Amino acid sequence: MLRGFFDLGVWLYAGIMASYLDQVPFSGIIRIRDMMYSVANPYRLDQGDVSFDAPDTVKSAMTRAIAENRSHYLQTNGVPRLRTLIAAKLRDKNRIPIEDDEDVLVTHGGIHGLYITCMALIEPGDEVLIPDPEWPPTAGNILAARGVPVGYRLDEATGWRPDFADLEAKITARTRGLYVNSPNNPTGGVLTRGDLERLAALARDRNLWVISDEAYEDVVFDGEPTSIASLPGMYGRTIPFYTFSKSYAMTGLRLGYVAIKDETIRERAKKILFYTASNVASVVQFGGMGALEGSQACVEEFRIELLARRNLFYAGVREHAAGVFSGEPPAGAFYAFLKINSKWDAGSRETASISWRMVEYLIRNGRIGCVPGVDFGAGGEGYVRFCFARDRSELTGALTSMKELFGVTV
Ligand code: PMP
Repeated sequence: MLRGFFDLGVWLYAGIMASYLDQVPFSGIIRIRDMMYSVANPYRLDQGDVSFDAPDTVKSAMTRAIAENRSHYLQTNGVPRLRTLIAAKLRDKNRIPIEDDEDVLVTHGGIHGLYITCMALIEPGDEVLIPDPEWPPTAGNILAARGVPVGYRLDEATGWRPDFADLEAKITARTRGLYVNSPNNPTGGVLTRGDLERLAALARDRNLWVISDEAYEDVVFDGEPTSIASLPGMYGRTIPFYTFSKSYAMTGLRLGYVAIKDETIRERAKKILFYTASNVASVVQFGGMGALEGSQACVEEFRIELLARRNLFYAGVREHAAGVFSGEPPAGAFYAFLKINSKWDAGSRETASISWRMVEYLIRNGRIGCVPGVDFGAGGEGYVRFCFARDRSELTGALTSMKELFGVTV
């Protein structure tokens, strides 16, 4: 018989222990960040942060919240008014059939939404199919929930859309979920409606949950952003999660949300939300209300400027490093995921991975921060990710530096 939390904890974790976390890797982005600290005047194209500032609607709502002493504990799931605004946004913009504000959980950024979802959904040993390449915290959070991430191939030739034969071959009796991330980080690939319908049919036929990462819903250059949760019958088995980070330039403020229809899963997620955050910072939640209540013009302005930066960056790479890097401009998100010419031969001989060799070379010799493709999964080896959401002068500086390094092409 269980006698309260202590016994339950001992029972649950017997033989597993905290040391399990020693097996969960940190992202290589941490190593890059440390390397960047040793570089004077660096071009920070490594971090996925926008150079824009949060709009006044956000800042004035937060200033008002401070002046009005909104500095106390709040409802665990989020301020009711914010949840109402989010539910309306999910219905009107994302076309997800949410009937009740209760479905919405406000989180400490998108990464926390991912964490509470994984903890609420995954049993130890459950497999979750994830794109390869994919943003490293996806695999990290699945592992932290004692699940097993299994990569499915994205195909550069189709604009980094899934290789369905590979995906279907990887479904086993242990597969619990399918992870969808459109637009994708790092590739910028955007799924078509046909892709989403095919994934939805698979999820239905094989009885899978879908976790839908829609962090870049507002950064789409070609095609229409569609949530898989909006397809007929899909919201019941899909957990979509979002962030204010990219749409409203609020990366450091940490605000995101998840929508969960299933009551059992939602109650579990709410427990993890409570035990890890109690509630998301009050002032930040008021900032989120300002963002949703105010003009949405900034979202489109950011998108248009990001499109200009994408074009500027790709034109520069084509001009100065065509013999070294190749790749088509992405349909969404704000990363250039470029293929390294396999004939490129500089860099340290000691590093086996060409992605790492290139990144170390660019950081040490060109002051250009970037991330090795292999950090996003085995399918990313041979590529490098550059973030083009930095301001134009930083992008131009990095391109000039590339010109100096690669002026003589391989
Ligand atoms: N999903 C993807 C694919 C991302 O790239 C990011 C941020 N880099 C997030 C989710 C989460 O963002 P945040 O935690 O800042 O809200």
